[in-house]
Amino acid sequence: MDDPTHDGRCRLCTANDLDGLREEMAEALWESRRDGTLDDRAWAEAGPMWQVIFRDFGATAVDSMLERHRATV
Ligand SMILES: [Zn+2]
Repeated sequence: MDDPTHDGRCRLCTANDLDGLREEMAEALWESRRDGTLDDRAWAEAGPMWQVIFRDFGATAVDSMLERHRATV
C-alpha cells in the first residue's frame, strides 16, 4: 500500500533516535493525563515510579506505531 501523502521527511521513517522518540511519547502521554490528578506535575518531576511506567507505555506506543506504519507505507 502506498500513501501519496507520505514524504521522505516522515518522522517515523527517518527516526534515528528511537529512544528519544519513546521518551517524547512517554512525556506526551504523561502530559495528556496529569491534569486534575493527584500527580499533576511536570514530566521531569513525575518521579521514578511514574517515569518507569510511562516510559514503558511510550516504548510500546512507538513500537506499535512503527510496526503498523511500516506495513502501510
Ligand atoms: Zn514514514
